[in-house]
Amino acid sequence: MSEFNMLINGEAVGADASFDVINPANEQVITQCPMATEAHLNQAVAAARAALPAWSAKSMDERRAVVLQIADRIEANMGELAQLLSSEQGKPIEGFAGLGAMFELGGCLAWIRYTATLDLPVEVIQDNDDARIEVHRKPVGVVGSITPWNYPLLITMWHVIPGLLAGCTVVAKPSEYTPLTVLKAAHLINDLLPPGVLNVVTGKGDIGAGMSAHEDIDKIVFTGSTSTGKRIMESASGNLKRLTLELGGNDAAIVLPDTNVAEAAGKIFATAMINNGQTCAALKRLYVHEDIYDEMCDALAGIAASVTTGPASESPDFGPIQNKMQFDKVCDLAEAAKADGATFMTGGAPLERDGYFFPVTIVRDIPEESRLVQEEPFGPILPVVKFTDVEDALARANAVSVGLGGSVWSSNIEQAQALAARLECGTAWVNNHAMIQPDAPFGGVKQSGLGVEFGRYGLVEYTNIQTMQIAKG
Ligand code: NDP
Repeated sequence: MSEFNMLINGEAVGADASFDVINPANEQVITQCPMATEAHLNQAVAAARAALPAWSAKSMDERRAVVLQIADRIEANMGELAQLLSSEQGKPIEGFAGLGAMFELGGCLAWIRYTATLDLPVEVIQDNDDARIEVHRKPVGVVGSITPWNYPLLITMWHVIPGLLAGCTVVAKPSEYTPLTVLKAAHLINDLLPPGVLNVVTGKGDIGAGMSAHEDIDKIVFTGSTSTGKRIMESASGNLKRLTLELGGNDAAIVLPDTNVAEAAGKIFATAMINNGQTCAALKRLYVHEDIYDEMCDALAGIAASVTTGPASESPDFGPIQNKMQFDKVCDLAEAAKADGATFMTGGAPLERDGYFFPVTIVRDIPEESRLVQEEPFGPILPVVKFTDVEDALARANAVSVGLGGSVWSSNIEQAQALAARLECGTAWVNNHAMIQPDAPFGGVKQSGLGVEFGRYGLVEYTNIQTMQIAKG
């Protein structure tokens, strides 16, 4: 029996079967987690459905007050949650540039508190002698949230908080790799919410699929791979679920020849390696003009050589890759790049110790066709590709099926912005990358997703429009 329980209808619920949660820093079992059955999922969905009328009938201000209490409760338990997060996810407590577990907890607070400032005002389209026409935003209903293992708690908050504020009830399913922090947080805030408003089920193999096909779930919000996103779209068709899908990317950055390398290299490194590269909007393909190519490669390799990778107990800059599947993927892409003749300036092979440790790796002289350039590694490895013609670089940046983010780097802002506007992606940065914030909409184009998260644009995705027409005269 696990010390961690699911949360269904306000109650702690165990399961007959369980699965292991592994510490990626030593490959040891941390604990077991309940393996939900279809019956558990049905109970959770029924609880969310039953709680919906009363929760959605509350005023926005009443729900806002609860959301703010959730932030306070998480803040009061930040240290403990960060430790648990670090043990199951692998990220250091502080880490490179302070972007470790405490940063994720801080992000939870920032997102929750900003989202709590939002409103869903009635919009008046017409008000004359003929009619008054109002546009109302009504909660979409029961939301199913499926979250990944890179930022387990932060992404859960991205899904759950706007849903709760909009008046929806939620069934959340954290990644089977990192379920513990979400379970812990859900139980910590349980007394703030009426039973059934937030439910958490844990499992693997069929719970996510069961959610996306469930006739009594009205919307799925999913963060994860494009292939699973496609499967969700298929199975969501049964009851025409609303979908927000935040899927992978393979973000390109184009560095123009007038870029100040000394200034840009640090930011480029940080935005490529954020969370050990396990970030959907991390910089993943770096195209650098030939005039500054050597200088940029040397600067990046210099930073890479100065950072440490290891278990949280050693207070490193970077931790392990979160799971074996991803670790193997990064190793495989590194080997493919070697076979393609690329030059490895740092790293390139796993550390010889227990755990899924792969050092920060900078790769130069790599052909465009290499799988390391064409596929998202989602790990601490950055291919640096040389270009001579900016139109060619832009064409290569856009020649992928995904489009989450992209960036242009230059000392000429006007020129950089004009080029950035031609990137096929949901967010384009100038002289930055991976910078997301609670008030700016974030989402992908092409096969990087559907819809957006954050701010007012994200909040309305948890609503349906009801147009109210009142005839006059
Ligand atoms: P996936 O993206 O495949 O997602 C796994 C989750 O989806 C699990 O919770 C699983 O639950 C659920 N799921 C599986 N099938 C379905 C379905 N048909 N309907 C609904 N839910 C389903 O994650 P992986 O961990 O396997 O990672 C694969 C790749 O995704 C990584 O290599 C990385 O490139 C990318 N990724 C992207 C992230 C991002 O932020 N965009 C984050 C993490 C990974 P169950 O097993 O219970 O069905």
